[in-house]
Amino acid sequence: MKGKIVVLKFGGSSVADNEKLKIVANKVIGYKKEYKNVVVILSAQGKTTDRLIGEAMELSKNPDKRETAMLISTGEQVSIAKLAILLDEMNVPAISLTGWQAGIRSSIANKCAIIENIDVSRIEQELKDDKIVIVAGFQGVNAKNDISTLGRGGSDTTAVAVAAALDADKCYIFSDVDGVYTADPNKIKEAKKLQNISYKEMIEISNEGAKVLHDRSIKIGEKFDVPIVTKSTFSEKEGTCLSKNIEENTVKSVVKKDVTKISIIGEGIMRNTKLIEKIINIIESEEVEVLRIEILDSKISVIFKEIVTDSIWQKFHEVSI
Ligand code: ADP
Ligand code: ASP
Ligand code: MG
Repeated sequence: MKGKIVVLKFGGSSVADNEKLKIVANKVIGYKKEYKNVVVILSAQGKTTDRLIGEAMELSKNPDKRETAMLISTGEQVSIAKLAILLDEMNVPAISLTGWQAGIRSSIANKCAIIENIDVSRIEQELKDDKIVIVAGFQGVNAKNDISTLGRGGSDTTAVAVAAALDADKCYIFSDVDGVYTADPNKIKEAKKLQNISYKEMIEISNEGAKVLHDRSIKIGEKFDVPIVTKSTFSEKEGTCLSKNIEENTVKSVVKKDVTKISIIGEGIMRNTKLIEKIINIIESEEVEVLRIEILDSKISVIFKEIVTDSIWQKFHEVSI
């Protein structure tokens, strides 16, 4: 037995269909031979989350945030139940748990909620009963007992937070790439795989837009010193290990990102505190992830982590005039 507890997270492309779920099931069974306790975190299948968001947008230009969280969190529920059914069929005891059942309590936001604490008692009970515990990624429950979602790519954060709460020996993040590269290997064919990377470097890479890991997952990893390894679901190749290790003066990655910058221009506007307050209100009500706010004497710029809709631009215009 290598260790006590392992957390295995599989992303959307790893659970996209029944064939891939079978690969995941066999991988999970393999780890169960090495570790007494196995906790699995799953994302929604393939592009399910995108599809569900699209369907909500077909019904409303500005779908209610609580109901959107209710809708898009179902994707993860489908994958965890399917994997549990499959493992049961293979005579391997397993149980699926939603974020709420797994004790994942979050901040009040519906769209980009933060995990505040995890009551691991249910997970631990099921592990004691020798079950593989499969937890829905990307979701929690807030103080109103409403379902919250953790921001796009948030299943990584579920995985690392659960690993920290259980004091797991390892947290493996499985995806369609076999590690972290010097650039997105799907875009730059010369990109090279890194054996090791520090949490700090990885936070920068994620902040600057590389998808590999959700930025909050790495911050939790760093805070609780969780040994994270990124690996491929579809190969046995060695992955990339994240740790505190610092190797100075070497380039680890080159990242390109599409962001949105909205700037409000006017002489001396940095002293208009009412305007700044209104801008903060828009950001909070929209729950869009902001990379940076720059305040200069005659310009306030908000840089969003992603491409945002023109309706947000319109809102900035409305409060500015
Ligand atoms: P999952 O759906 O499993 O969570 P993601 O799509 O979120 O996986 O992350 C994996 C993707 O990250 C890869 O398919 C790859 O295109 C992209 N990526 C971007 N930058 C990098 C990088 N530096 N190293 C590895 N993968 C990267
Ligand atoms: N299913 C969610 C998303 O597509 C969470 C995740 O995949 O990590 O963003
Ligand atoms: Mg991801």
